[in-house]
Amino acid sequence: QSPIHIVGGGLAGSEAAWQIAEAGLPVVLHEMRGVRPTDAHHTDSLAELVCSNSFRSDDATANAVGVIHAEMRLAGSLIMRCADAHQVPAGGALAVDRNGFAAAVTARIEAHPLIELRREEIVGLPPREWGQTIIATGPLTAPALAEAIRAETGADALAFFDAIAPIVHFETIDLGKAWFQSRYDKVGPGGTGKDYVNCPLDKAQYEAFVAGLVAGSKTEFHEWEGTPYFDGCLPIEVMAERGPETLRHGPMKPMGLTNSHQPDIKAYAVVQLRQDNALGTLYNMVGFQTKLKYAEQVRLFRTIPGLETAEFARLGGLHRNTYLNSPTLLDDTLRLRSRPQLRFAGQITGCEGYVESASIGLLAGRFAAAEARGETLAPLPPTTAMGALLGHITGGHLTADDEPGKRSFQPMNVNFGLFPPIEAPKMEGKRLRGKEKTTAKKQAMAARALADFGAWLGLEAPRAIAAE
Ligand code: FAD
Repeated sequence: QSPIHIVGGGLAGSEAAWQIAEAGLPVVLHEMRGVRPTDAHHTDSLAELVCSNSFRSDDATANAVGVIHAEMRLAGSLIMRCADAHQVPAGGALAVDRNGFAAAVTARIEAHPLIELRREEIVGLPPREWGQTIIATGPLTAPALAEAIRAETGADALAFFDAIAPIVHFETIDLGKAWFQSRYDKVGPGGTGKDYVNCPLDKAQYEAFVAGLVAGSKTEFHEWEGTPYFDGCLPIEVMAERGPETLRHGPMKPMGLTNSHQPDIKAYAVVQLRQDNALGTLYNMVGFQTKLKYAEQVRLFRTIPGLETAEFARLGGLHRNTYLNSPTLLDDTLRLRSRPQLRFAGQITGCEGYVESASIGLLAGRFAAAEARGETLAPLPPTTAMGALLGHITGGHLTADDEPGKRSFQPMNVNFGLFPPIEAPKMEGKRLRGKEKTTAKKQAMAARALADFGAWLGLEAPRAIAAE
């Protein structure tokens, strides 16, 4: 049996290698650290955590990242096993002793009889004679390989920076103040003339908002990131610093929009939100990429009429981040359509964070092992946390057809907005409201995810396992 090759021994590559080897197939894992460092890693250990030591919430009953933890545990994840073994106290979060965790992953990989670890940089596309290969080189993919991927996929298909606009859970937008309308009622391909949610600001609200942007504290770039500003993708606070009217002539322009609640009052500025996923559960704030600190974003964006009680599935950001335009490039088992021998995993596919990257590594490993054995896996249900995240990466995302040349696919953490909606269960026959209803829905989604994931794995009585 010829080995499956994996490039990159980070969170995703280590997990993929483990899944394949545990399926009884040989693996060669190529990791460049030890020979060539990255700008963010400090050690040569596999699965190094470059910043925080937290895997975030471990609550599998009502938190989407906690559900991914539980799904990964059910699937025999190496990353979760080592994280659990090196846990440090962190309330409801799963935080780890970073050195103990990475050393454990490295030791397990090195000791596995079916895994060969090679410390080398892969400088071009993996040669065809390798056969099945998983590329899991992460947000800081070494330049020579990144250029080779870009040459294969096309210049617009591999980004080197993300430009993340915040995303809001649709059901938390106040449609008593906001209204649906496309600018000038334009009907684009597949559109209705009512494709955007619009939030109106009067002059005083706009001026206070702009002042808040200028005064708000921002996250600094790392020195090695450079300053990747280019016109057409400026952070809103940089636009605000250019002059008080700049935003009103940019992403907040009010032209071509009439407030259906108050048709006689012309809004001074308008914030537009556009549907972000096929389910219609998430809306992104158009043109609102920002480096404001997270708490500042929540505070300031909730001053926008219609967003006072908004819950954010993702907050804005701008980072160095190598990632593919996956919805157009990858098939539903993460293979490059133009060269299916190559599969991608981890953050380079457009997920975000340690846990999400490892989970996509887990799936890539399982998909590769099944393919090597000539088996066909049943599709992963979109109701599972991993299935929902995979859906974001490979297809569920909408592109901005009305803005030619603009890519709208941006990296995403897992969140319940990516899951198919569910009816909130009733309590003693009565409908729930407010926070109780939201919590009940999250609990129902979490239980459904774990049951469906267990069934996908072929586990018996997955509900019982999920409840443990
Ligand atoms: P990585 O873990 O980066 O692994 C990729 C591996 O590929 C690396 O070991 C690299 O050395 C190797 N590699 C690259 N190119 C080659 C090549 N050509 N040949 C051989 N090997 C190669 N996420 C969080 O959840 N919390 C945080 O606090 C956080 N902070 C971050 C801070 C920074 C500065 C950065 C850059 C990222 C941060 N992230 C954070 C994101 C997190 O690092 C990623 O989500 C996660 O590490 C991605 O896993 P991965 O396996 O895809 O990539």
